[in-house]
Amino acid sequence: MSEMIKHIAILGGGTAGWLTAGIIASRHQARLRKGSLRITLYESDKIPTIGVGEGTWPTMRQTLQTLGISESKFLTECDASFKQGSKFINWRFDQHPHSYHHPFSVPAGYQHQLNMAEHWLSQHQHTASFSRCYSPQEAVCEAFLAPKTMQQGEQQSLLNYGYHLDAGKFTQLLQTHCTEALQVEHQQCEVSGVQLDDDGAIAKLHTTTGDSLTADLYIDCTGLKATLLGTALGIPFKPLNSVLFCDRALATRQAYPEHSTAIASCTLSTAQQAGWIWDIGLQSRRGIGYVYSSQHATEDQALQTLAAYTQSSSDLLEVKSIAFTPGHREKFWHKNCIAIGLSAGFVEPLEASALLMVELSAQFIAEKLPQTYSQIAPLSNIFNERFLYRWGRLVDFLKLHYILSDRQQDAFWRDNKVSNSIPDSLTELLQLWQHTPPWPHDFDRTGEIFQALSYQYVLYGMGFETKMPIPPEKAKQQLADTALRKNIEASRQLTQQLSSNREYLNHLRV
Ligand SMILES: Cc1cc2nc3c(=O)[nH]c(=O)nc-3n(C[C@H](O)[C@H](O)[C@H](O)COP(=O)(O)OP(=O)(O)OC[C@H]3O[C@@H](n4cnc5c(N)ncnc54)[C@H](O)[C@@H]3O)c2cc1C
Repeated sequence: MSEMIKHIAILGGGTAGWLTAGIIASRHQARLRKGSLRITLYESDKIPTIGVGEGTWPTMRQTLQTLGISESKFLTECDASFKQGSKFINWRFDQHPHSYHHPFSVPAGYQHQLNMAEHWLSQHQHTASFSRCYSPQEAVCEAFLAPKTMQQGEQQSLLNYGYHLDAGKFTQLLQTHCTEALQVEHQQCEVSGVQLDDDGAIAKLHTTTGDSLTADLYIDCTGLKATLLGTALGIPFKPLNSVLFCDRALATRQAYPEHSTAIASCTLSTAQQAGWIWDIGLQSRRGIGYVYSSQHATEDQALQTLAAYTQSSSDLLEVKSIAFTPGHREKFWHKNCIAIGLSAGFVEPLEASALLMVELSAQFIAEKLPQTYSQIAPLSNIFNERFLYRWGRLVDFLKLHYILSDRQQDAFWRDNKVSNSIPDSLTELLQLWQHTPPWPHDFDRTGEIFQALSYQYVLYGMGFETKMPIPPEKAKQQLADTALRKNIEASRQLTQQLSSNREYLNHLRV
């Protein structure tokens, strides 16, 4: 292995591999053009990509910009649409209908340091939903509207948003862009063996055709197999199925009944007997999947549940069945190998944060790209510490969605509330929030993935009780009243002003 890091090998051409290649390549264009750095992506066309992963965070807008892909090209080529958050249906009760929103826009008043949750708890909690009071996005989503007007440019919008996309088409777009515009080399091959050096780092990859591949830094994007970091380097996997129970998914696609059918503006997540169903509206179809716990339902039962949701017969439904163990590697960067994507870990699709973890990992590598081998030890320590913390926060936030439920009929929901399945860190936060609503001081580490606002939307959407011993000051209440009134007016104006998702996306095609 050379002392200088001049060649990066990325193994795996799923969304993680291509996003990582693109993010690093766009940051190091000068070196790639000069030839002092090479990035090669190796993948096997015999090993399929996972083929799901259709919801993103708003961070993907910046990522597309970094890569130099225009939004209109992305929307058109990836059958994509706008995602303005998630709507959780029937997560709270199983006896009567209920729903709440987790929108991407920050609540009204937030920019003035107002904790609107205090206002809501003291004045409105019994009369109106938290998200309806402080975000215009709930009304916009309920009306299937776009987050921007047709006159606004690519980087402009009236509301914050991410995307819903076709995973296969997105990977194809990234591949074309990375190889044609960003100097990423691409080679088809199947890696069948890994040779380590005396130090336990990767020395060579062997392929099924008898070739060997060498590089200075290896990025493992081989999906759930984790061929390099897991199998070859033996970094243990930390299972989290005692906390998050979903470990199977049945994914399907459904055509719209008509070309003009409205496209949803948020991911619809509907609670079911042993998990929940995602429903994502793309331009030409819906992507629907049941994520469930194999401890609480058989595949046949899950198929019946999915068939009932899609109002089709289970015999006719074309489904892809995916098994995974929720969890992550004990570390993500070891010696000269870094795992990004499913190879690093996957807990479940709730809140669609897997691609966000890919973006954050690749940004770190792009920003801190080691130039010499001696930089690897300190950088890998920072990387591992930061991402272990992020996985911990992610698990807490996802578990929160389940433990606040009052659903009693099914064992899946009752088991989720058993105290030994709840991380201590989450139990502590809930104790704190019994007396004060979440606020940024509760999470003040660099690069938090879920902010206090997200916790507020979920806690109060699910009816969590915060009993504040001291009511908010009068002056703050007045400011909050004003913010609430402004939000009501903003909701009214936006629902009149914005066109539907379908209209906006159609206009890109003319
Ligand atoms: C049910 C489900 C729903 C999800 N929903 C979301 C969502 O809404 N939002 C979100 O952000 N994420 C979601 N995810 C996660 C998301 O799908 C993944 O993070 C994303 O697709 C990245 O996958 P990947 O590239 O790591 O792996 P894969 O797509 O599995 O790609 C692996 C690649 O490695 C290659 N490979 C493997 N072994 C070898 C070898 N030996 N030699 C050569 N090549 C090899 C394969 O050919 C392939 O190209 C979901 C995941 C699941 C399971």
